[in-house]
Amino acid sequence: MTSLLSPAEADRLLKAAIAGELPDDRGRFGPFGGRYVPETLVPAFERLEEGIREHLHTDEFQSEFVNELKTWVGRPTALTFAPRLSERWGAEVWLKREDLAHTGAHKINNAIGQAILAKKLGAKRVIAETGAGQHGVASAAACARVGLPCTVYMGAVDIERQAPNVDRMRRLGAAVVAVESGDKTLRAAIDEALREWVSDPSGIYYLLGSAVGAHPYPYLVRELHSCIGRESREQMMAQAGGLPDAVFACVGGGSNAIGLFYPMLADDCEIIGVEAGGTGKGLGQNAATLATGTPGVLQGAYTMILQNSDGQVQETHSISAGLDYSGVGPEHAMLQATGRVRYVSAGDEAALEALEELCELEGILTALETSHAFVAARAWAKENPGKRILIGNSGRGDKDMPTLTKYPAKVRTHAST
Ligand SMILES: *Cc1c(COP(=O)(O)O)cnc(C)c1O
Repeated sequence: MTSLLSPAEADRLLKAAIAGELPDDRGRFGPFGGRYVPETLVPAFERLEEGIREHLHTDEFQSEFVNELKTWVGRPTALTFAPRLSERWGAEVWLKREDLAHTGAHKINNAIGQAILAKKLGAKRVIAETGAGQHGVASAAACARVGLPCTVYMGAVDIERQAPNVDRMRRLGAAVVAVESGDKTLRAAIDEALREWVSDPSGIYYLLGSAVGAHPYPYLVRELHSCIGRESREQMMAQAGGLPDAVFACVGGGSNAIGLFYPMLADDCEIIGVEAGGTGKGLGQNAATLATGTPGVLQGAYTMILQNSDGQVQETHSISAGLDYSGVGPEHAMLQATGRVRYVSAGDEAALEALEELCELEGILTALETSHAFVAARAWAKENPGKRILIGNSGRGDKDMPTLTKYPAKVRTHAST
């Protein structure tokens, strides 16, 4: 989609991004982003925007947030050298271990940050939406931590598919509401949460789970996840003796990826986002929004989306529930248009193979979402031998056991004779 921007415009935008000037005061990342919401929702978004301006970058908020990241989430997460994978790939491979964060993925950075913000804004309760349940679990945990009641909206179909996470949310004190309308999955759950928010915008805080949606969410979520990239830079300098030649992260809505990429935009390294290629290139077979989508408005933002020629939003497919989304954060659409970040896709089968390779060589059971980043990193390593690579290991794979069990593990005997 480089053709969306002239070279001069692309250059200007990237400079603004690096200078920390995006989104602009209309919530736009160049042509992308903004706030396309019904009139009834405008006051709620404006309240949130005002609250962020007032609190997010104060010493008081930041010291509380950083303290929770350190003592409750477990940050900084480790940077791990992967010696056996490095040897196999002919590269120097480093992993940023978000799988070691509390509740098993990066999502908790955003959840605890927004839960603290909800308190500061005087909200009486928090609502959240979830698809696969990971954001619901992180939200439930964060709300318990700050002492706010949490209601999680979840499509009836997803409730059935993700029973263990529903149980986790309830144990962590959340009310889980089954959404029977629309497609009965994530998109319907978001619509339902927005409806609820309108009913009491000052009493309710809406805790959104990725760097998507109308302004100010893409900005807020990026700010709360940028610790991933800042820590990575410091750890690479200290442990690897320099910054990576290439950086990889998987992209669903794009929150773990923007957290890792944003602090590295000015660095001399290639940056590659990896989407779900699913089972093939046809509409409905994948969730490769940036690679194969077209611009349009989805859930309040102008961004890249998967839609048919009538502008009808398409169902997506991926083996990993966390990448299964028809849109993507507007900042990624901008970074693709400027040419600074390249977005590629990896299919279901390849992701499963990558997951197995990482298990066998490094003793890390990564999430199916994360496995997509390893597929692209391995392909890049083969074409660029001997380079230093950093991969955002966004989460752990224990949650994926019900899926993985359908692909039987190798049965081994390690007896000497
Ligand atoms: C939810 C999730 C993702 C995808 O979400 P992003 O907002 O794109 O980061 C990726 N990895 C893991 C482990 C997840 O749980």
